[in-house]
Amino acid sequence: MRHFAVVGSGPAGFYTAEALEKAYGANARIDILDRYPVPYGLIRFGVAPDHQSLKAVSKRYDKVAESAGVNFIGNVMVGRDVSIAELLDLYDAVILATGAPHDRKLGVPGEDLAGVIGSGEFVGWYNGHPEYADLDPFLLGSNAVIIGAGNVALDCARILAKTRHEFEGSDIVGHALDALDNSAIRTITILGRRGPHQVAMTPKELGELGHLEAAVPEIDLGDFPPLEADEPLEPGLRKSVTILRSFAQLPQNKPKRMVFDFFAKPVRVEGDGRVERVIVERTELDEKGGARGTGETYAVPASLVITAIGYSTSPIPDVPFAGGKFVNEQGRIADRLYAVGWARRGPTGTIGTNRPDGYEVADQVAVAMPAGSCGDRQGAEGLKRLLQSRGVMPTDYDDWRKIEQSETANARAGSPREKFVRHEHWLQTIGR
Ligand SMILES: Cc1cc2nc3c(=O)[nH]c(=O)nc-3n(C[C@H](O)[C@H](O)[C@H](O)COP(=O)(O)OP(=O)(O)OC[C@H]3O[C@@H](n4cnc5c(N)ncnc54)[C@H](O)[C@@H]3O)c2cc1C
Repeated sequence: MRHFAVVGSGPAGFYTAEALEKAYGANARIDILDRYPVPYGLIRFGVAPDHQSLKAVSKRYDKVAESAGVNFIGNVMVGRDVSIAELLDLYDAVILATGAPHDRKLGVPGEDLAGVIGSGEFVGWYNGHPEYADLDPFLLGSNAVIIGAGNVALDCARILAKTRHEFEGSDIVGHALDALDNSAIRTITILGRRGPHQVAMTPKELGELGHLEAAVPEIDLGDFPPLEADEPLEPGLRKSVTILRSFAQLPQNKPKRMVFDFFAKPVRVEGDGRVERVIVERTELDEKGGARGTGETYAVPASLVITAIGYSTSPIPDVPFAGGKFVNEQGRIADRLYAVGWARRGPTGTIGTNRPDGYEVADQVAVAMPAGSCGDRQGAEGLKRLLQSRGVMPTDYDDWRKIEQSETANARAGSPREKFVRHEHWLQTIGR
């Protein structure tokens, strides 16, 4: 029997477990460890609550969790409750699928002022992440500025723009729904350092903005190259640019504006004790397609600033780390130690991009330890003994299901569930 530990229960962790299960069948036990008693990482805490069809990918992961050879072990933080060396002693291979939860910093003066928050924090707040339950983003001013030109920036803008009614059928948490309902924000400016041809926004997410109840997107056609320059673009990007151009035709007749400000690089955040404006430098494209400052600056009023410029992984003691992720070669960090997903590649791609990572690493493991070969590691039994000796109380699959049932039972009308937003609440639900 082989024993494998997959650390992290987001998409990358589940695809890896699925691949190992397929490769080894009854000859392996696969333990998926997570720091929380509920799984799915950013599917629960990142993907927008009004995109329920995307969250449904978790049904595939449910099937993996129900397989005979797979165990979910929650409430265990690797690096704090158990070390990598200990896991390597207990398991034949350890695969890190810990994601990239930390917001990248802007690196400009004033970014620590009150009212400047990272998208990871904001998204965690409206999705019920326990670390951000008390974030209380300032929504009582009229101007929000979102820095970034990708889908996360669009998620943040859309959530700020929607009416209470438009959240019907979503699983946005109650505290966020109430606060957003009382929000005074009327102008949401999205700052992109480069132009419309350089966005990382996808057509579906952009298209939604044209159909909001109380908000309308706004662009300046002067930021766009001539129409014929769209022709050679890759089809997805061309579609995104076409949608962006189409915003120029929309009547500006709704109470909230979503202003796309391209070629705009934040150079400073200013305010007396809290954010009041972002100072932006106008840019142009350089020869390599990067953003070059022109020296012209202007101020964008801001009562709230959300940065959506990428994420980095949490380091774990004794695991080589550089550039915001674990140092690895095609997923391999060291003997019997691997990384997958955002912890391996950094924060890029869609949910599905994590699948090949998991399968590739499972193949490498299977080459090093062919199915049918034997190991003498203790796996979950040894891990549980070790955790018990430290007073750490792991949770299991049944505990997770109990929490989920309780969340579903607590759901408001029109919501699939009311997620618990405190770690204590999860533990109380399972009688700890
Ligand atoms: C705001 C946002 C919206 C997104 N929306 C979409 C979308 O609409 N469509 C799409 O295709 N993609 C979307 N993505 C991308 C998608 O969520 C990622 O590709 C995917 O979640 C990355 O998977 P992962 O398993 O590497 O990391 P994660 O999903 O972050 O999972 C990491 C897991 O590891 C656990 N963990 C971390 N550290 C430890 C530790 N030390 N010990 C134990 N457990 C640990 C965490 O609790 C978590 O469960 C979005 C991302 C963000 C940030």
